Amino acid sequence: MATAVHDAADTGRDARRAELEDTARRLAARFEERGRQGYDKGEFVAENIRDLVDSGLTAVNVPRELGGFEADLEENTRLLRIIAGGCGSTAFTLAIHAVLTGSMRSDLSAAVRERMFGAVRDGAFVVGPFTDEGSGGNWVRPSTTARRTEDGFVLDGLKHFATGYDAATHLVLTAGLDDEHLEPPFNLAAFFVEKPASGIEVAAHWHGFALPMTGSHSLRLDSLPVAAEDSVFPDGLTPLFVMARQQWGHYCFAAVFLGLAERAYELALERTRGRSTTAVSDLARLPGIQFAVARMRSSLATMDALLTEYATRHVDPGEDLPAFVADTCVPKYYITNEAEHVVATAFEVIGGSGIRDGSRIGQIWRDVKAGPLLPFSNDMAREFIGKATLGISPVETPRWV
Ligand SMILES: Cc1cc2nc3c(=O)[nH]c(=O)nc-3n(C[C@H](O)[C@H](O)[C@H](O)COP(=O)(O)OP(=O)(O)OC[C@H]3O[C@@H](n4cnc5c(N)ncnc54)[C@H](O)[C@@H]3O)c2cc1C
Repeated sequence: MATAVHDAADTGRDARRAELEDTARRLAARFEERGRQGYDKGEFVAENIRDLVDSGLTAVNVPRELGGFEADLEENTRLLRIIAGGCGSTAFTLAIHAVLTGSMRSDLSAAVRERMFGAVRDGAFVVGPFTDEGSGGNWVRPSTTARRTEDGFVLDGLKHFATGYDAATHLVLTAGLDDEHLEPPFNLAAFFVEKPASGIEVAAHWHGFALPMTGSHSLRLDSLPVAAEDSVFPDGLTPLFVMARQQWGHYCFAAVFLGLAERAYELALERTRGRSTTAVSDLARLPGIQFAVARMRSSLATMDALLTEYATRHVDPGEDLPAFVADTCVPKYYITNEAEHVVATAFEVIGGSGIRDGSRIGQIWRDVKAGPLLPFSNDMAREFIGKATLGISPVETPRWV
């Protein structure tokens, strides 16, 4: 009997998952069409985000007890790959929302949890400006400060990138507490707030070579008040909580760049099959084309297997947090770099038409460049993986001697 109940629940979940993936495919086709107009102008993908909200795709991480689907990490990566096939900017913007809503289901205070997921269930869109102009990718050591007041904190600083800010209804903001007893990075704090009406402004509008439609503006926080109950994690423990959630950032970001590479491969096949020139009756019969296709296919299969393996079997931080973080770096590091190779090969197969204005492969070629720059950037990933393998603590100082 128990098995029958379990099977019925599984079947229902499989059907819902298939439905969500179909929706994502339908939207990806629409987003690709829209991108033809918006990409070169660097228009923010506001309409796409509205479609994602209306379709329920932004609510997939709402916990079951709040009426949600509670998508797991692997399910999130599948959806992001599909959306990236249509539009890298939309997929990356959605990825940030997915990372925040997926990774913050556990360990939040009951009040923040209900506030966050009640809002997400009702159509909220959450963005996460963590990186400061003064911290770069080392955002666990923010230059933005949080000064204590009677009923909360006041934040000041310059957030370098706020992907999706124009569509945001809520933000998760990071800052360093100015408490003397908390040495960096243990002074890191995170706050979940409704998009404030004042105390925050766009300091520089986003113009990007890659992912140009993400609206990743820089934000100035100027005496921005936040309430004490907006603080997401206990004082002093935020870096540990953040590290224990790194799998969400690493696998969801990897999914976006794998999705871009998968689309590049499809485009290369579409452009080649049945194409002839005055010199060659069928381009697909050329060994160079066949070898390139084989290389891309093998590479994509490897990336697919790697991401699926990590997103299903390397999600629990366990006892050894630095070793776990190093583990999560593996697919992010491998996939974001390997995706660039696949896209470059697809570009070569497509040939000169790929360079023409508005070509989809040209957009993908630009977008895929952002992968290795996102956290953990290549050097940081290599350091974590190398040190974990050699048995050296990544927090040991000095770092290199
Ligand atoms: C399109 C786009 C959207 C983004 N959106 C967001 C967003 O919404 N929210 C957000 O918080 N961030 C966002 N980012 C920022 C992203 O997180 C940063 O690009 C990333 O963290 C790297 O920081 P940086 O580019 O300032 O480079 P830096 O950190 O300045 O790095 C420059 C170079 O120095 C190396 N380096 C720096 N520090 C170390 C170190 N400790 N050890 C080894 N090597 C190091 C790096 O590997 C790199 O080669 C976005 C970035 C892009 C490209």
